Amino acid sequence: MTKKSRAPRIEETNATAHAPANETLTKTTAATTMRMLSFEAESGKASTARRIGFHAPVAGGLHNALLKSAELGCDAVQIFSRNPRGWAARPLASEEVERFQLVRAETNISLVVIHANYLTNLAAADSVIRDKSRAAFREEVERGILLGADYLVVHPGSAKGACTSDAVRTCAETLKAACAGIEFGKLRILIENTAGQGACIGHDFEHLRDIIAACPELNLGVCFDTAHAFAAGYDLRGEDGFNAMLESLEANVGLASIRVVHFNDSKAEYDSRVDRHYHIGQGHIGSEALSRVARCSELAHAAFLLETPQDALGDDASNLAALRSFVC
Ligand SMILES: [Zn+2]
Ligand SMILES: [Zn+2]
Repeated sequence: MTKKSRAPRIEETNATAHAPANETLTKTTAATTMRMLSFEAESGKASTARRIGFHAPVAGGLHNALLKSAELGCDAVQIFSRNPRGWAARPLASEEVERFQLVRAETNISLVVIHANYLTNLAAADSVIRDKSRAAFREEVERGILLGADYLVVHPGSAKGACTSDAVRTCAETLKAACAGIEFGKLRILIENTAGQGACIGHDFEHLRDIIAACPELNLGVCFDTAHAFAAGYDLRGEDGFNAMLESLEANVGLASIRVVHFNDSKAEYDSRVDRHYHIGQGHIGSEALSRVARCSELAHAAFLLETPQDALGDDASNLAALRSFVC
C-alpha cells in the first residue's frame, strides 16, 4: 500500500445528499474547494447548530433508541442493529423495521447511524475470522439498508498476525468482497479512526486514507472519534495540536469526508493506545479542547454523537448538555 497522499475528492455539499463523488481534482485545488464547500454548507443553514445525538440503547426494540433520543432533544442517533458482541444476529422482522421507520418519522430523527459489531475484523489475517467478518459485515450493510440508516460505522480491524500494510490491504479487500453486488441507496460506510489498542489499525489517519483509496467504488467516508485520536497520539488539547490534527485529517482523508464525529472525552491518557471513553470535561482531553472541536466550523457538517459511559441515570442528558453548552 503506497503512502503517497491521494487527492481528496469533492464530497457532498449538504448533510442529506449521498451521491457518490465523481470528480477528482488536484490536491491543492480540492483542499481549497473543500474548505469553501464546508463554509458554504454551514452558511447555507439558518443557524450553525450541530446535529447532535448519542449512542442510544435498543433494549425493548430498536425504535426505543429513537424515542429516548427524541426525549433528550436529539436529531441524530447511533445504535447497534444487533448484538454487538456475538456472531449470530437475529434477522430483522418486517414489523420491527416498519415500527422503526414509523417512530423515526414521528420523532423527526434526521440521521440514523449504525455501529457495526465489535467482533468484525475486516483486517483479520486468519481466514476463518476474515470469512466470518465478511459475512457479518455484509449482514450489517443489509440491515442498515433495510432500516433506512444513513451511515454504518466500522473499525478497520486488527492486524494481529500480520504487518500493518498487509492489514490495511486486507481490510480494503474484505470490505469490497463483503459489499460486492449490494445496491447501497443512501447508506454510506464510514471507517472510524481507532485508539490503536493491541494490534488495531486505523490509529494513524494514513491507514484510513489507504483503505479509502483502495475502495473507490464504495465511496467510503470517515467517522472521527476524539478519544481514539487522543489515545492514538494526536494531541488535540492545545490549539496548535488541534490545528495540526485537522491539517493531517484534511491531507489524508479530507475534512468533508468526516460525516460523524464521535464526541468523547478520554479516561485513558494521551498516546496510551488505550480505548476508554469518558464523560465530557472529566477526562484527559478536557472541556476546553472538546469545546474547540465542537465549535470548529470545518467539522460543522458532521453529526456529533456521544459514546460516553452510561453508568448512572442522567449521564446521557448531562453529557449532551455539556456538548450543547459548547455550540449553542
Ligand atoms: Zn467505534
Ligand atoms: Zn467511536
